[in-house]
Order: sequence, then structure tokens, then C-alpha cells
Amino acid sequence: MKRQPHALVIPYPAQGHVAPLMKLALQIASHGVKVTFANTESTHAKIKASLPENVEEAHLISFVSLPDGMEPDDDRTDWVKLNDSIHRTMPGYLEDFILKVNGSNANQKFTCVVADTSVGWALELAKKAGLQAVAVWPAGGPCLALALHIPQLLEAGIIDTDGTVLKDEAISVSKDVPAWTSTEIGWGFPDPVFQQLFFGFYTIFPQYYKFHDWFLCNSIYELDSAALQLVPNVLPIGPLLASNHLATFAGNLWPQDSTCLQWLDNQASGSVIYVAFGSSTTVDSQQLHELALGLELTGQPFLWVIRSDLMNDGSLAKLPEGFINRVSNRAKFVEWAPQEEVLAHPSVACFMSHCGWNSTMEGLTMGVPFLCWPYLADQFCNRNYICDVWRIGLGLRKDEHGVITRNEISSKIKTLLSSQDIKANAMHVKEVARKSLHESGGSSCRNFNNFIQHIKST
Ligand code: UDP
Repeated sequence: MKRQPHALVIPYPAQGHVAPLMKLALQIASHGVKVTFANTESTHAKIKASLPENVEEAHLISFVSLPDGMEPDDDRTDWVKLNDSIHRTMPGYLEDFILKVNGSNANQKFTCVVADTSVGWALELAKKAGLQAVAVWPAGGPCLALALHIPQLLEAGIIDTDGTVLKDEAISVSKDVPAWTSTEIGWGFPDPVFQQLFFGFYTIFPQYYKFHDWFLCNSIYELDSAALQLVPNVLPIGPLLASNHLATFAGNLWPQDSTCLQWLDNQASGSVIYVAFGSSTTVDSQQLHELALGLELTGQPFLWVIRSDLMNDGSLAKLPEGFINRVSNRAKFVEWAPQEEVLAHPSVACFMSHCGWNSTMEGLTMGVPFLCWPYLADQFCNRNYICDVWRIGLGLRKDEHGVITRNEISSKIKTLLSSQDIKANAMHVKEVARKSLHESGGSSCRNFNNFIQHIKST
């Protein structure tokens, strides 16, 4: 008798990884494949707290948790410690879990493992257990091409084994992909400990590359072909969106404040600046003040996501004196927004973003022009794509003190909102992204359907 297909989905425990893997998991479940979504215990608790009530009953999905190897009270915002613990302890927990499930009821057995490339060891475990191994790169083609290019960079003496760039030259993977400067390379940090952490995110995948049967990435071939062509076997299936499947859950680790949607309903069409910097970007108080005063200077309505951990000194965001009163009739603040729905709202004019890959895919699919404020990792490369390749946004520039000033913010917003070229490009890119999802021959849809047919039949 043929076994019922059952996918075990394993994200890396960070918002920008859990969200796309959750969207993929729900998309897989909506095609009749049973899914078990395995989070670390602390991520599991957050997901459960923000999950709509009937997701597990209404969809073929269930949620389980595995220990991350840390003590209950340990600080999980210490990424270096968490990352180290995960890689040391989770392979053992995962192997035991797979053996336990597959040794019990024949109908429950996992038939494939769908794993984030940042937990590449899960692919090796899948092969060891005789299961299909599906690797998922939750980001874009350029950084994927860069990751696979690391052995050549090492061999050519361009970087050392810590990822430090040794030559004063831009790093290029192809003439058609914007090159990386040494300070904007995806793992470049002044702090060597952080550099090692981020370099590890890039080197782990080539290490486990040989263990995949399928290799998916959250991108769109027509928008990312120069880089994707450099990556053998990769299947772009993006944009991964909550709205691609019947569920609306976007894999958020925080409860979203939907009051901003009603607020948007009351704003003029194409008038609102949406300001959100993802899940972990932080600012200092001087930069916070310049941002607030820059938004005030524009005279436009704005919706600003101010997370409780936005400040880099651990304090609560303290806005300039009198600011809230002065902007109260045209501003809305939330701690966490339903971002996809916000970006799809007709009142939104532009997206001031840190250019995380998920935010980039969501914004471009909704046709929203970007104001780019990258902080780290792949965000600089994503900014280059937004501003120079797709030409759907403008970048903010720091002054000689490393601050993005209120004048820079307000003048760039004015330029952005008055650019007909950027608006037209954003509409074009939106069309391309939407087309890739069409049932009738869209490239991402075709790739996903091939993949799903295969995992259903093995
Ligand atoms: N997000 C959200 N509400 C917010 C801010 C962000 O739902 O108020 C979501 C956003 O839609 C995206 C994810 O959080 O899917 C952030 O991922 P991204 O790769 O953009 O940035 P990261 O958090 O990894 O830096």
C-alpha cells in the first residue's frame, strides 16, 4: 500500500526563516500533503500564541517542538550562543524524533524532510533515514550564488577561512549580478564573533549541498535569473506569501495588531508611508529622533512599526518631545503589523524598509516603491537589486557622522513619491511576480507543482 505523503518541515529559529517556511508548509498542506512543522521550544511557544485558532484543524498541519539545547532561562537573543547550541544538540533530538515517528504507526511516517539550508544537517539526517531531502533557501539568488562561490573565493585568496576579505576589491559572482564591497558582503561585521556567526550561515549550505533531492528558493526566476543561473538544480518558487494558500497565517512570532488596517481604510489612496524594519533591526536614540522628525517633515500620513526591542540599548523607544501630539492626526504606531495586508492596502504609497529578503519579496509583489535602509547581512545586496536592478526604490544615505538625517529622509520620500518611473517599474515588477504564480504556466507555480507531484508520488 502506498504511504500517505508526510513532510517534516524544519525552519531556522528566526522570524525571517520561520515565516517563509511556514508559508511554504501551508502551501504544501493545501495540496493534500500532511505536514508536521518542527520549531524549537521557544519559537513553538510564540507561534502557538499568535496562531489563529483553527489552523491545525482546518489544514493538514500540526506543530511540534524540539529542544534547542539551552536552559529555559537562557538568553535566546544571544544569537551566537543559540546558534552554537542548536548545531550542537538539535541533530540528535531531530534524529530521535524521526526514528520515533517512523518506528510507530505506518500511516504517520515521514516521507520527506523540508529543511532550511541554515539547518543543513537535517538534510543529511533525512537521507540517513531513507527520506526525500528538500533544501529551502529562504532568501534570494544573489546571496545563494555567493554562498556556493565561497570555495573559489577561499582558493583565490580573496577571503580567509573566517570570511575576512583580504583584497581591496569588489567581490563578484557574475558580471550581471551587482558586486559586493568588503563592508557590505553578507557576513561582513566589525565584530569577529558576529562575522563568524553570519559566515556560518553561508558556509553551512555548501557543506550539506550534496544531501538534497530537491532545492527550493523563495525567489522569482524572471526577476533573479542572472544569479539563479549560477546555482545548479535550484527551483525558485517565490514569492512565498500567506495569500498563496487558503490560510492567512504568515508565520509571525508576535501577535499582529490589525487595528492599523482600519486606520489605513481611513487614509487617502496612495498617501501612507509604511515604516518597518523587520524583526531584529535596532536603532540608537539619535537615529530614532531623526527618523521621527523626518517623517514629520514630509507632512504625509505614516504607519510605523515600533517593536518593543527596537532600541539598541534595551530601552523603550523614546520619541522626540511633543512629536506624538504633533502627528497624532496622521500617524499610527503598532508593535507588529500584518505586513502583507498592509503592503497590499491601496492607501500605502511606499515602504521604508531594512530590505530583509521577505520584506523585499512582499513589497515588490504588492507593487510598492521602496525607501531602502539596509543594516546588515544580505540587506545591502537586496537594496542594490531594489535600486539598481529592478529600479523600484531609492536608497537613504548616511551623513559624515553615520546618521540618516531628517532632511535626507523627507527629501528622499518626496523624490520617491514624485517619480513616475519608479512607480511604473514597481507596477511592472508586481506584474512579473504575480505572473510567476499563475496556474497557467507561471514559472514559480510550475516549479512548485513539479515538486509537489514528486513528493506526493514517492
Ligand atoms: N513582519 C510582519 N510585521 C511587521 C514587520 C515584519 O509581519 O510589523 C514580517 C514581514 O512580513 C516578513 C518578516 O516579518 O515576512 C521579516 O522578514 P525579513 O526577511 O523582511 O526581515 P528579518 O526580520 O529577517 O530581518
